[in-house]
Formats: sequence, structure tokens, C-alpha cells
Amino acid sequence: MIKRYPTKQIMVGNVAVGGDAPISVQSMTYSKTHDIVATNEQIRRLHFAGADIVRVAVPAMEDALALKEIKANTSLPLVADIHYNYKLALVAAEVVDCVRFNPGNISDKGKIKEIVKACSQRRIPIRIGVNCGSLEDQFENKYGQSAEGMIASALYNIKYLEDLGFSDIKVSLKASDVQRTVDAYRGLRPQVVYPFHLGVTEAGTLFHSTIKSAIGLGSLILDGIGDTMRISITGELEKEIEVGRAILKDSGAVKDGVNIISCPTCGRIEADLVKAVAEVEAATKHIKTPLNISVMGCVVNAIGEAKGADVAIAYGKGSGLVMRKGEVVANLDEKNLVERFLQEVEEAAKELE
Ligand code: SF4
Repeated sequence: MIKRYPTKQIMVGNVAVGGDAPISVQSMTYSKTHDIVATNEQIRRLHFAGADIVRVAVPAMEDALALKEIKANTSLPLVADIHYNYKLALVAAEVVDCVRFNPGNISDKGKIKEIVKACSQRRIPIRIGVNCGSLEDQFENKYGQSAEGMIASALYNIKYLEDLGFSDIKVSLKASDVQRTVDAYRGLRPQVVYPFHLGVTEAGTLFHSTIKSAIGLGSLILDGIGDTMRISITGELEKEIEVGRAILKDSGAVKDGVNIISCPTCGRIEADLVKAVAEVEAATKHIKTPLNISVMGCVVNAIGEAKGADVAIAYGKGSGLVMRKGEVVANLDEKNLVERFLQEVEEAAKELE
């Protein structure tokens, strides 16, 4: 059982972040934000993929001015991502549900004060988005591009916002490698009460990002750290949500859908297990009820796994067993096994709803 660090709860639109709220999964569009049609289409895709929150880049005034129409076309909470030009944050804050600024490139206190004022007026939160690759000079000179540097930058900026009476804050501390990312979040967590947005930044392609994010974010989540997250993938939007949800599920942070236990196959294999598991995975994607299902290639471990599974298959030579909670419910020819197994899975899911 994961015991999460207690954090202050803030609202990003209608999505609660922190406190006892579920860890939310977010992503970021890659269209030119001022291309309203393209941006809304990407937001629609993210919504359909199961994103809780979406962030858009606001590099120029034409992007900031497009936010009103973009916001009108989606029910997803919208976060404006601001670098360098604080005036864009002032325009964005009139419309969006959260402003993220990078203190490494907006470090002038007068400008940050203006952003805080704009967000206070609309009662929207601010993400202090610290990036290891763009720390303020004072912290990079002292600590280098390190976890300590990120923590120092975050504490400095949190204090500045607090001194202005602003506390609807979330914080991110992103580096492009797992170790510094994890060290930074672990180091800061006991020092502040604000919710954390987790991410390993610039994590690479689907394969590498999945591994880095699973190690990094998975470790933090198991430590009870993290309130919202983004998986950074050089690839398609939907994958960021899919990987994020899988990390939440496989770390045990959320219990929904089926958990498929399947063996890696070996020389004892008695069936085309790769095909069978692919079929099972595709046919059970819609199930939201937490279920453990086991698909094993021979009897060696199948009976043992079946005892802990809600529904299981154990393949034998040309035939196999379908089991519920370790009890055999059918002994069938191999060609009928998956179909019967899936019927049992659907039934088990309904019973446990
Ligand atoms: S369950 Fe059987 S086929 Fe699968 S890996 Fe184990 S011994 Fe090999």
C-alpha cells in the first residue's frame, strides 16, 4: 500500500491536484498554439486518450491571444507554458486554469510579481517549473546543474510567492536523467507542502522514455511522492497518456483494469502464447474493474499463478484449462480456450463491479 506524502490540494480547473486527489496524468500539445484548429484537435485527441490536464506552449503574443478560443472548445483544464516573456503570462492568466513559468528564464522579481498578481485575481494556481538545464545563474554557479541547484531554485521561488501571499503552487523539478530527477524530488518533498508535478524531461523516444519514466516516476510514486505527472516522449500524444496510466497502474497507485500475468515462454511452451496474450490484451482493454488474469504457456507455473488470479488459462498439449480463483471451470481444446477464457473474464468483471 502506497502512503502518499500529505500535500496541499489545489484546483487546476475542475481537476484537484494534491491532497487525497488521484495522481493526474497530463500532456502537452505540439501544434503551434495560434493554429487554433490544430491545437484543439490535439487537445481532443488527448481528451479521448484519457488526459486529465493539457498544457500548451505560449511562445508569442499570437499564441496567448488564441487561448480564449482554444479554451472555449475544450472541457480539459488548460495550462499555459511560459518562458522568457512574462507579459504572455498576464494575457494567458485571463483565460487558462494554471500558469507554468520557468524561474530560470523569468527571474526578475518584478515580473514574477506581475504574474502572481494576475493569477491571484483569477484564483488560478502557478506551477514553478524548474528545469535543470535552465537554472538561474545564482544557483547554477553555486551548485551546477544538479538536484541541489533545482531544490535551491524551487525553495527560493516558493518563498517569493509565499511572501506575496500566494500559495496555490505546484512544483516540478525536471532533469533529463533519472538520478537527478529523483534526487531533486526526494530532497524537496519533506521541505514543502505543495503538490508536485513529476516528470523526467526530454526523456527521448517511446522506448527510452518509458524506461526512464518507469524507473524515475515509479520510484517516486512508490515513495508516496507525486500528485500529477507528465511522461515526456519524442512521439505521439496518446503514448504519453498510455505510459503514464500504465506507470500508475503497475506501481499500484491506481487499481483499475486488468493486470495480465503471462509467462515469457520457453522450450516447454505448448501453445502460440504470444498470439493468445495479444488477443486477450486487445479484448480486455475496455474493462475498468481491477482483475488479475493469468495466461501461461504450460502447467509448470500455471496452476500456482491461477490460484492468485481471478481468471486463468493453463495451456497443455493441444488443450488447456480455464480456471477461476484456481478452480478448474473448463477443460477445452486449444482452439476454444481463449473465447471461453474471455467469457469468464467478462463475468468476473461484472461480479466485481
Ligand atoms: S509457464 Fe511453462 S512455457 Fe511459460 S515460461 Fe514457464 S515453463 Fe516455460
